[in-house]
Amino acid sequence: MNPQTFLNWIDGQWLAGETFIENRSPSDTDDLIGQYAQATGDQVQQAIEAARRAQPQWAATGLEKRHDALRAIGDELIARSEELGRQLAREEGKTRAEGVGEVARAGQFFHYFAAEVLRQHGSNADSVRPGIEIDVRREPLGVVGIITPWNFPMATASWKIAPALAFGNAVLFKPANLTPASAWALAEIISRQALPPGTFNLLMGPGEAVGNRLASSPRVDGISFTGSLETGRRLAAVAAPNLIKLQMEMGSKNALVVLDDADLDLAVECAFQGAYSGTGQKCTASSRLVVTPGIHAAFVERLAERLANVRVGRALDEGVQMGPVIDGRQLEANLRYVALGQREGARLVCGGEALARPERAWCMSPALFDDGRNDMQINRDEMFGPIACVIPVRDYDEALAVANDTAFGLTAGIVTQSLRHATHFRRHAQAGCVMVNLPTAGTDYHVPFGGRKASSYGPREQGPNASEFYTTLKTAYTRA
Ligand code: ADP
Repeated sequence: MNPQTFLNWIDGQWLAGETFIENRSPSDTDDLIGQYAQATGDQVQQAIEAARRAQPQWAATGLEKRHDALRAIGDELIARSEELGRQLAREEGKTRAEGVGEVARAGQFFHYFAAEVLRQHGSNADSVRPGIEIDVRREPLGVVGIITPWNFPMATASWKIAPALAFGNAVLFKPANLTPASAWALAEIISRQALPPGTFNLLMGPGEAVGNRLASSPRVDGISFTGSLETGRRLAAVAAPNLIKLQMEMGSKNALVVLDDADLDLAVECAFQGAYSGTGQKCTASSRLVVTPGIHAAFVERLAERLANVRVGRALDEGVQMGPVIDGRQLEANLRYVALGQREGARLVCGGEALARPERAWCMSPALFDDGRNDMQINRDEMFGPIACVIPVRDYDEALAVANDTAFGLTAGIVTQSLRHATHFRRHAQAGCVMVNLPTAGTDYHVPFGGRKASSYGPREQGPNASEFYTTLKTAYTRA
């Protein structure tokens, strides 16, 4: 049987390109999910021009119609979260529960921004010149390119596409080629809404071709990107000559601080969820566990015990708690980091091995290092896998210094019962999101999300702050 083929959605039509890629499950590479069209250079141009034509029409569409379209997308995502969550787990490798939860969350982003369509913000003022009134309002940015990674193929796409459409923009959506099925499913739902043709376009294809074309086009007004630091830098360089607006979420190297007075069960749970959920493939993951001496031995022992009992296997199998990593390249990179950590002098407590499976799967046992130093490469690079390293420190002051000693700054966490230390950490952690007695991974959808230093560039995503990127302010003066 021929695998099913899936096309791009450009200017209100489903179009094949010249080539297709295969989408295979990381849980079993014999499981072919489908073949996905790759947009050609001409098709990217066609989509950009269609988006330019459609955007003013979409911006002029009545508020209720815009609200209703977003609401309907959210409703369908939530109603189909089991089906689409299973598909997401099948192509990305996270567990069924994580996949279903992500699709439902994607729906909530559309609901939040549906409401935002109606919640019209603006302000007015009297001029310093008598008889003149000032009206300040937000207008759409225009045509936006949305470039997303594979680790949250539904959620990341939704937290960008929903505000883009809510605020009257046209969208060119370039998903990661490793997870096109989730992107296609989302695009198919959007394609059935009453949007002027060209308002929303799906452009599956390689980053260097499609993503690069979007970022370097003078006909695109902004790019919202989530991915690696290296790609972000490249993208900013090609976008710079046109001075287009950028919003970028990139790497991270988050720390979870565990102090002597922490509740041990809670500390272990926060470290486990924060470092290993989603197979550790989260930009919010805490791969550095910064621990003070009084709790160190007990914490490492209990976390290692927890890890030894994790069932790693096929994402969709009942009882599996950790799925495979995304692909063979990532698995190799992870295993190289496990070897590197040992060469650097960290002590491998458990895990870090490729797991033999009946299927060809990219599974590994979750790895925990102890006795790490913050200057080791494994504690500098974003590894993006189920690998964490305990860094012993003397006291809270050293813990804070170590947590902040990184090129990145997305999330930071602390587990403690001390109000003084929790409060100090909240105020002094150099990160965009700080968690107290919670895992570093796991954020809400109605408040801003983003980081500092090399983790982020441009305005914040999500919550009320999403309008900062997707709109531009106009200050209008009127003599009555
Ligand atoms: P990840 O490690 O999450 O795959 P990448 O930065 O490699 O991060 O990819 C994130 C997204 O950026 C993907 O959709 C990818 O195809 C796209 N991308 C990769 N290279 C470029 C590029 N040169 N210009 C624009 N987008 C790119």
